[in-house]
Amino acid sequence: MSDRPQSISLLGATGSIGSSALSVIARHKGRYSLNALTAHSNDQAMLALCIEHQPELAVMADADAAVRLEQRLREAGSAVRVAAGADGLADAARGADIVISGIVGSAGLQPTLAAVRAGRRVLLANKEPLVMAGELLMAEAERCGAVLLPVDSEHNAIFQSLPPGYQCGRRPEGVAGIVLTASGGPFRDWPLDQLASVTPDQAVQHPNWDMGRKISVDSATMMNKGLEVIEAAMLFCMPEVEIEVILHPQSTVHSLVRYADGSLLAQLGEPDMRTPIACALSWPERIDAGVRQLDLIACARLDFRAVEAQRYPCLELAREALRSGGAMPAVLNAANEIAVQRFLDGEIGFCDIARVVEVCMEHSVSEGCDGSIEALVALDARVREDARQVLKSGAVTVGTSGSTG
Ligand code: NAD
Ligand code: MG
Repeated sequence: MSDRPQSISLLGATGSIGSSALSVIARHKGRYSLNALTAHSNDQAMLALCIEHQPELAVMADADAAVRLEQRLREAGSAVRVAAGADGLADAARGADIVISGIVGSAGLQPTLAAVRAGRRVLLANKEPLVMAGELLMAEAERCGAVLLPVDSEHNAIFQSLPPGYQCGRRPEGVAGIVLTASGGPFRDWPLDQLASVTPDQAVQHPNWDMGRKISVDSATMMNKGLEVIEAAMLFCMPEVEIEVILHPQSTVHSLVRYADGSLLAQLGEPDMRTPIACALSWPERIDAGVRQLDLIACARLDFRAVEAQRYPCLELAREALRSGGAMPAVLNAANEIAVQRFLDGEIGFCDIARVVEVCMEHSVSEGCDGSIEALVALDARVREDARQVLKSGAVTVGTSGSTG
């Protein structure tokens, strides 16, 4: 550990990952200092975080929210600087030793890329950028000397179970495959014919993890696990066929690595994101995360079962996107972001999410995308528009909760 505190920029400070990260950082004030906190538009929540944690800089993606925040901070006598918009986010992402990428969705792509290009230690919770632009991000990390550390609990578990000294972006030695565990979400035991009637409130009730709304819906459809298969392929240079997914209702074994000699290594722990965040912050050292030790006797049993393909069509769509390669994962991601938002707004049914994604993937709007950041951003916008048109045209059977969907 260096003598001076390592500075941290926390992107997505007002979210679920943001709150877990702040809780870990607050335990280690001499070790870390806060350079920047960023958020989208909730200036009230940001004001409270600035007063409690005293970062040097607060960035609001929304310009009006930044004006409100600045005024409130001055009224409170605070000296925290305020910035706004994409430039403010990129400055925050470049300006610290460690960047925690905790924005939700594709909005995190540009700031994450800025952190990677500045050669930072980048803690990746925000998985959508890796899905949209994984090859670009991994190549830029290699070129610019950025150190990528996975915070997504499964990928952090795999990282911890890989050989000592392993760095993301390389194919690990002696590894035969990886196993991602999935809780199966709140509907894993529901009769299949009732899934069409799932409401947004039911979908965001995750059985084991307390997370933001978008990832909670993704967990219920298992698109989250699909995005994680792509994320794993990018981070660990593994082909799709070597990435297994199994259901593990207790969310205690966070994921596993299979070795050529038949060994299977796993990481276990409470389902609490402070563990992977603390692990990635201090790696290869270990710090207190404030998480209680796993009580094995209380756990008593660990169950594993196969994933039912029929219940989770989004998982297969994501595998298909990964096998197709190129920009297809970016198509999958953009269509899913639109569909999930429409579902959360009560405009489409739960089962329509997979249909929207499938139809957008069939439209092959990814042709001609050269994988550059400009082309990927343009593609993302095209697919979002396509998804809106698909919904408008009724090309998928649109059914909100309670209808036959
Ligand atoms: P969340 O909705 O709780 O928080 C999202 C954060 O992003 C907020 O601070 C919000 O202000 C910010 N944000 C949203 N839109 C933005 C925009 N357009 N521009 C700038 N900032 C914006 O989400 P979360 O659950 O904390 O998840 C964050 C990311 O981490 C997601 O990609 C998710 O998949 C991943 N992740 C989360 C968990 C978890 O336990 N919550 C676990 C693993 C991975
Ligand atoms: Mg995960």
